[in-house]
Amino acid sequence: MRLLSGRDIAAVAGIADLIAPIAEVMQLVSAGGATLPLRSIVKLAGANMFGIMPGATGQPAVHGAKLLSLYPDNPGRGRSSHAGLMLVFDAETGLAAGCLDAAALTAMRTAAATAVATRALARADATRLALIGCGEQAHTHLTAMRAVRDVSRVCVWGRDAAKAAAFARAHGIEVAPSVAEAVAGADIVCTVTPADTPLLRAEMLRPGLHVNAVGASIPSLQEIASEVMPLVRLFTDYRPSLEAQAAEVIDARRRGLIGPDHPIAEIGAVLAGTAPGRRDAAEITLYRSLGIAAQDLAAASFLLARAKQRGIGTVVDMT
Ligand code: NDP
Repeated sequence: MRLLSGRDIAAVAGIADLIAPIAEVMQLVSAGGATLPLRSIVKLAGANMFGIMPGATGQPAVHGAKLLSLYPDNPGRGRSSHAGLMLVFDAETGLAAGCLDAAALTAMRTAAATAVATRALARADATRLALIGCGEQAHTHLTAMRAVRDVSRVCVWGRDAAKAAAFARAHGIEVAPSVAEAVAGADIVCTVTPADTPLLRAEMLRPGLHVNAVGASIPSLQEIASEVMPLVRLFTDYRPSLEAQAAEVIDARRRGLIGPDHPIAEIGAVLAGTAPGRRDAAEITLYRSLGIAAQDLAAASFLLARAKQRGIGTVVDMT
């Protein structure tokens, strides 16, 4: 079994390298080629949680699970809020083939998946990016958006003005005093927070905008106002996750803001050409990312194969 630490993963590949394997697996998922039980969440003390994400994909044949401690206060201690392990098994022998740091894997694969969606859905001439939130995902999403669009202006909003200013300084970008002001000057918006009160509101939307709603991955959290739902064309990574975990969709349905048949397309279907993507420059597109084990498996398989080629990581005999 090959062990890859966060440092090993960084030495093996960058976010842009994961775009192709993630695009491929998203098509496989939408074609029914993956088994993906919904994520289980175990509540721990305080706001801490333990998440378990199992799955199996058909091509390449691989199965595994990500085990994640979700500790929101960890960044204050200089650690990722998503700590844990990704275990990958060999489909032929059933033996454990890889064990990867889940913090680095999650940060990279999530941003790469958003890059896949943005490449497919954002206007080709989108150049202005707004980041809502300034944590780990904001950092990786900045890199990911630059990989798929010619980003010339970036502005960040954070609930803690000092942290947002530090993030802006570190990345040479602008800081916005409010979410509304960040969104007003943007073609692409990435929301990357565990907000429990909606941050992106209907009145902030403008024609042609593309939104990546990435944070708030459990139904008790909500970054996007439910009123946004009828105003956007809605895309997601995996529809069963969206139905079970996206608070704004669940609430919009409950309140009758959208009907049970409101169109929702998986990004894999858009990539395969079986569902339409953006139809014109004025549409507002929203990609709702919930995160699925197939993305972890695809990214981990890619990283393990490349690490083997380059002799990176630690090989452990588990017998
Ligand atoms: P971090 O802890 O690194 O950063 C979180 C950011 O959100 C910080 O800027 C934090 O501000 C801010 N924030 C926290 N609470 C609120 C709030 N109530 N209102 C506004 N801003 C808030 O987390 P990550 O960047 O790793 O993850 C961000 C989100 O993305 C989480 O919700 C996470 O669950 C989700 N996620 C989604 C994935 C997917 O596949 N869709 C995968 C991985 C993560 P401050 O510093 O002031 O606390």
